Amino acid sequence: MAANTFAPPAAFLQPQLVLLPRTASVVVVGAGAFGGWTALHLLRRGIHVTLVDAWGPGHSRSSSGDETRVIRSTYGSNRFYFDLNVRALELWKESEKKWNKKLFHNVGVLWLCYQESTPLVDDSVPFTKAHGMPYEYLELKELRRRYPLVNTDDLHHGWFDPFGGYLMARESTRAVAEAFVQEGGTFLQAHAQPGNIRNGKLEDITLSIGVKLQADAYVFACGSWMGQVFPEVLKNVITCTKQEAYYFGVPQADSESYDAMPAWVDVDGNDYYYGIPGNASRGFKLGVDRRGESFDPTYGERLANPQVLERARKFIAHRFPGLKNAPLVENRVCPYENSPDGNFIFDKHPEASNIIFLGGGSGHGFKHGPALGEHVTNLMVER
Ligand SMILES: Cc1cc2nc3c(=O)[nH]c(=O)nc-3n(C[C@H](O)[C@H](O)[C@H](O)COP(=O)(O)OP(=O)(O)OC[C@H]3O[C@@H](n4cnc5c(N)ncnc54)[C@H](O)[C@@H]3O)c2cc1C
Repeated sequence: MAANTFAPPAAFLQPQLVLLPRTASVVVVGAGAFGGWTALHLLRRGIHVTLVDAWGPGHSRSSSGDETRVIRSTYGSNRFYFDLNVRALELWKESEKKWNKKLFHNVGVLWLCYQESTPLVDDSVPFTKAHGMPYEYLELKELRRRYPLVNTDDLHHGWFDPFGGYLMARESTRAVAEAFVQEGGTFLQAHAQPGNIRNGKLEDITLSIGVKLQADAYVFACGSWMGQVFPEVLKNVITCTKQEAYYFGVPQADSESYDAMPAWVDVDGNDYYYGIPGNASRGFKLGVDRRGESFDPTYGERLANPQVLERARKFIAHRFPGLKNAPLVENRVCPYENSPDGNFIFDKHPEASNIIFLGGGSGHGFKHGPALGEHVTNLMVER
């Protein structure tokens, strides 16, 4: 979820990073939210694209493989991500219509604020007005009236963003890959290993299925694995942490009231909790945005940390008193692929001009997938 504010990423603001002719060939490694959408946009621009993933799109070890993800524009004073999300929203709506699949649930996002001033939300308000997407300021009385399930004792006010909500994560990651294949792309399920770099270029990549692929450019969108694929460059740049999300069972008599709540973010709390009440009927989702222990995305066991769960239980009993004794019905361990400052990373390998890194989703990348893929395509392909 990652509700940070930071300066916009420099590489995204430049006019062009790579100049590929429209007849070029590209291999994209990684079919998560970043790689999948980038492959689809490159393909639609006329590029010959092969998409490769070791375990398949939206698999359980990937960051994009959870049930749901929050979509919200709020990024403090960072206009780049606000605008990127606005474009992403358009593309999500367009795509779900085209594919006839419900991927975006427009339930809104409720920001629970402890202080009078909450820059993370307040500083985005001018952008909401510029885009004609205003938020509603909810005084405590109104917050209580609308959301009686929320304990507001330690809150100052709320903000409601009626344009946000949540996305079906795994389902849409698979839908993107399916569209990619239907529109003429080639998907291969295999582990990819970059070959030699000679004269400033990567020569090829070797797949675990005994095939070598050659292309004009290679986009590596390997999520939490980026540091392992390019240890010499990225080991300390994109780091992986263990993040937990819990799905609690709501009381049978009130399940409709809980499911009808918007996604919410506890803005000022220390653990940065957030949640998705409906969560595709899998339970009241509580996510912990505070960074967990470092984690190996391939071999790490997906078991919840008892201390993190205990703290989460205390929080949920406090914020949603009706869930004090709610049973845990499912939980997920999911890797964050953290960049040093929370910005996405899009750059060339320092020694190979045809290797492009795309990653560092840092706990907030999923929703941007469609707009990011489009933006990256604009920065890579001649117009
Ligand atoms: C608990 C949690 C909550 C989050 N909440 C939100 C949220 O609410 N909203 C939001 O927008 N974002 C959220 N995020 C962040 C978001 O999910 C990620 O930023 C996004 O999914 C990253 O996508 P990706 O494509 O970079 O990585 P991934 O989805 O991990 O995809 C990388 C892919 O690369 C493949 N791969 C790696 N190495 C190789 C190789 N050598 N050969 C072949 N394939 C390879 C992997 O198999 C994998 O499928 C959350 C993340 C987590 C973990």
